[in-house]
Amino acid sequence: FCLLKKEKKRKPTKLDMEGALTARDRVGIQDFVLLDTHTSETAFLGNLKKRFSEDLIYTYIGTLLVSVNPYKELDIYSKKQMDIYMGVNFFELPPHIYALADNAYHTMMAEANNHFILISGESGAGKTEASKKILQYYAVSCPSTTLLDSVRDRMLVSNPVLEAFGNAKTLKNDNSSRFGKYMDIQFDIQGDAVGGHILSYLLEKSRVVHQNHGERNFHIFYQLVEGGEEDLLHQLGLESNCQHYSYLVQDECANVTSINDKNDWKTVRNALSVIDFDESDIQHLFGIIASVLHLGNVQFEADSKGYATLNKNTELRWVSTLLGINVQVLQEGLTYRKIEAKTDEVLSPFTVDHAIYARNALAKAIYGRTFTWLVNKINDSMENKEPSRKTVIGLLDIYGFEVFYVNSFEQFCINYCNEKLQQLFIQLTLKSEQEEYEAEGIGWEPVQFFNNKIICDLVEEKHRGIISVLDEECLRPGEATDFTFLEKLEEKMGSHPHFITHKLSDKKIRKTLDRGDFRLLHYAGEVTYGVVGFIDKNNDMLYRNIKYVSLLLWSIIHVYLTDKLQFKSSLLGLTDILMSKEPWYVRCLKSNESKQPGRFDDVLVRHQVKYLGLMEHLRVRRAGFAYRRRYELFLQRYKPLCPATWPHWRGVAAEGVEVLVQHLGYLPDEYKMGRTKIFIRHPRTLFATEDAFEV
Ligand code: ATP
Ligand code: MG
Repeated sequence: FCLLKKEKKRKPTKLDMEGALTARDRVGIQDFVLLDTHTSETAFLGNLKKRFSEDLIYTYIGTLLVSVNPYKELDIYSKKQMDIYMGVNFFELPPHIYALADNAYHTMMAEANNHFILISGESGAGKTEASKKILQYYAVSCPSTTLLDSVRDRMLVSNPVLEAFGNAKTLKNDNSSRFGKYMDIQFDIQGDAVGGHILSYLLEKSRVVHQNHGERNFHIFYQLVEGGEEDLLHQLGLESNCQHYSYLVQDECANVTSINDKNDWKTVRNALSVIDFDESDIQHLFGIIASVLHLGNVQFEADSKGYATLNKNTELRWVSTLLGINVQVLQEGLTYRKIEAKTDEVLSPFTVDHAIYARNALAKAIYGRTFTWLVNKINDSMENKEPSRKTVIGLLDIYGFEVFYVNSFEQFCINYCNEKLQQLFIQLTLKSEQEEYEAEGIGWEPVQFFNNKIICDLVEEKHRGIISVLDEECLRPGEATDFTFLEKLEEKMGSHPHFITHKLSDKKIRKTLDRGDFRLLHYAGEVTYGVVGFIDKNNDMLYRNIKYVSLLLWSIIHVYLTDKLQFKSSLLGLTDILMSKEPWYVRCLKSNESKQPGRFDDVLVRHQVKYLGLMEHLRVRRAGFAYRRRYELFLQRYKPLCPATWPHWRGVAAEGVEVLVQHLGYLPDEYKMGRTKIFIRHPRTLFATEDAFEV
């Protein structure tokens, strides 16, 4: 019961009082599950908006946390706030990211199993900020020993370092993560945060050599050039001026008001020393970063035959010095292709275009490897080598459904991954619920929800799914095209209710589709994909990675949860702890496109509510009873509240519970009596009962 109310004797604070207002009040409803008109999207949006206008950016759907980006600093992340949330049950205080972090932590401690917090939303919605807040919460609030402080510091400072190398200003977000990140925080048996591990995937390397209009390269380049000490820049052959570097000035947006490269440079330098980078590592690291900038300035000219030559090679000399590669070898590598003939090698000269391509490919490869090396170094510094048993909380920051004007292979992969996550959610929540209801002899109340397994199958089924068809087409080089792929899909999927194309649709829908499109009816809504590029991208290693990373992510999540379920089933009947089944979800919403504080764009938010599947989620959550408890335990706990059960109830426990809840005034709709347990629909009922102790 310690989990139910861990700080019973705490004096109620003002925040508590606000938190206790679970019904309608000026701040809207803090858990959508309690919204009367819970199936109405308009009511849902109305509630979000009302809360947002009061700077209440967090709202629950059961244990899922919805967060709306306020685009302004709110005074809700102080140490004092952390203390308020520490060890307090989910529904007792206003919704907060700390409440979620805290409950994941306490459930992990009580059940000794692994947990998983999934943060999703579109670019700029606040995913990275949310994951930082969770990490900070653990760093500050978990028990601590001086020995462990260093691990903790390293975990915290790994963020600014990774952001410097992996984030960039895009049109949607001034600090957009251009890589995927999955982080494990490891806790020992006492609950101390003792180690961490980061898995990074799909760094957007193309950004090193090309940025779209209004966007920038990775932050670190500007930080180094703007903030680097004179000595360092001198050693690296760099000028303290971004305008000098062609990889940095493609779009004249080197200065962004929200970014202070000079200050950030200092933060990164300090952080590097915390994570065990010595001076030689730092020299090495920035030598490589500088070499990329020099490489970008290497220019080629065409000779009389149109082949690429290097006129001025000062820049190349710098690259050669910084990377320790012979300048001749470098020059040859950038202007010739080596063809291996039977007995010897033949050098075939590049055109200028080819040389530029080779130069850019080298820059991207260097940067990509440096990033991997950096992540490995950070992991080494956060590693906990103690063999003791550990449990982990995993943090995954992942794009939600992506729906653009034109959607291609990348969106197909990310949307498929989200479809799988939804499937997992359904399996975990509904199936196990249903099974337990059956076992307990409680009538299942059917809910209108959509099981998306049919769509997952459509995409992934062996020999028949879209991925199989695509892979098969890729085995017919020279013959297969994006359009033969589409034809094959039409043959195989023809009558599938979630798949349509121009050819397969009726007149009305046909108008909305091009001949090269296929449309999937995802659980969150429809998305139209253009097939152009599917074959090439599926063949290309980079894009192939996207597909496999989607699968990889899925398998990580799956392993976590199956592991967890097995653990749970072996303990079933012993642990009967609240909220033990769910992985934890944070869904981030972007309030407006122009990053303005306090502006709530209804159309934009509605779109995200739809594609994040929030209404669907709410329906599933509303289906069940929030809590259940064995009769014996329930009676044991609450018997002092009723004269008929105190100090002893001599009969059958179930009957005692019935007497007890009648006495407490539970309404018939609020609870059900199962074979071994009482089921309570809303958390508030239970908390009211808990509160009765204090009266
Ligand atoms: P991307 O997918 O592009 O990486 P993201 O979802 O990670 O986007 P963030 O970088 O977390 O988005 O947030 C974008 C910006 O929004 C932040 O830099 C910050 O200015 C603002 N922001 C996000 N969350 C909050 C918050 N809780 N409080 C105040 N500002 C926030
Ligand atoms: Mg991010």
